[in-house]
Amino acid sequence: MAARTAQEIWIDETARRCGHPGGAAFAAAHGLKNYRLAQLYRAAAKELAQSVDAVTTLPKELRAALTAEGFRFDSVEPVVVQHSQDKQTIKGLFRLRDGNEVEAVLMQHFGERNTVCISSQAGCAYACAFCATGQAGFTRHLAPTEIFDQARYFARFLHAQGRKITNIVFMGMGEPFHNYDAVMDAVRLLNDAHGFGLGHRHITISTVGIVPQIDAFADEGIQVNLAISLHAPTDAIRSSIMPVNRKWSIDELMAACRRYIAKTNRKIFFEYVMLDGVNDRPADARALAALMRGPLYHVNIIPYNATPDAKLGPTGDERIRAFAAILEASGVPCTVRTPMGRDIAAACGQLQAETQPRAKAV
Ligand code: SAH
Repeated sequence: MAARTAQEIWIDETARRCGHPGGAAFAAAHGLKNYRLAQLYRAAAKELAQSVDAVTTLPKELRAALTAEGFRFDSVEPVVVQHSQDKQTIKGLFRLRDGNEVEAVLMQHFGERNTVCISSQAGCAYACAFCATGQAGFTRHLAPTEIFDQARYFARFLHAQGRKITNIVFMGMGEPFHNYDAVMDAVRLLNDAHGFGLGHRHITISTVGIVPQIDAFADEGIQVNLAISLHAPTDAIRSSIMPVNRKWSIDELMAACRRYIAKTNRKIFFEYVMLDGVNDRPADARALAALMRGPLYHVNIIPYNATPDAKLGPTGDERIRAFAAILEASGVPCTVRTPMGRDIAAACGQLQAETQPRAKAV
């Protein structure tokens, strides 16, 4: 079966949310020709209209009929929106139709870049020791529009100020490669030239390191960036903080990375969260440098945002600098990520972890 177009994905799901078995049944029920479907899709994905009622190019009766049956552009609804004190970071907690909640974050880099970090699942099955989402466990996969609509929300926010999203990263809640097909459909929605129109090169998918999906991703033939959450240079350390390493060892992971690069000739970003006394010693930096000897490897050192329950602590700035210096001296390209939005708990799963008890009590 040929892959669905972005418009088909969007119409199918939006129709399903208001009770139709799919886009075709929806179109038949309302007597909608393809140009009408295209109009609806374009209004939501490209023109970023809030609701069908705002689409004045549609006949009034049609807008009323669609609204009456619950046809809605948004599959996610913001329930808490927090702004960091420096105004650069805005974090949203979004409620899905079934009551589950996910987070997305807008990071504004002094007007030059507007990066949105989106979630691909409610919860996460991978249980990384340092991650608030991982500690909370897995609830369910998100549908493509539920992923896309987090971006749509911030795109609308920026659009009102004459600005745009420049980058999207799948670094919110969940493991994107555990929800592979929906994430690829979401990428289709984000990228579609007739819709949202964000270039593949401006999208990054971050994975815990699921080897078969890294191989599948290499075969997609798209220029979406790949980031791997490595976080440790040895199996002993990695398995102690990332259970996934017991399934695919560092050797197997690095072999998949080499296959990916051989196929795509694209750079891989390795994320490395600095955990006090766990993975941040000079010996760890040297071991990491040895792993990163290949071309097209880039290390992104991440200062740890301590989560309330985690027994792990952040590495101090000085030790982070020393760690980065060892990598640099070994010729490994690396950057230290600037923490953003710490005052609003902007790391993966944190806002939800904080608001969850209150939300549950209501
Ligand atoms: N499941 C994907 C996306 C997770 S979130 C993955 O594992 O890559 C994106 C990145 O943030 C991952 O590298 C993750 O390990 C890291 N991360 C999670 N919790 C963090 C925290 N509290 N502080 C800093 N980085 C964190």
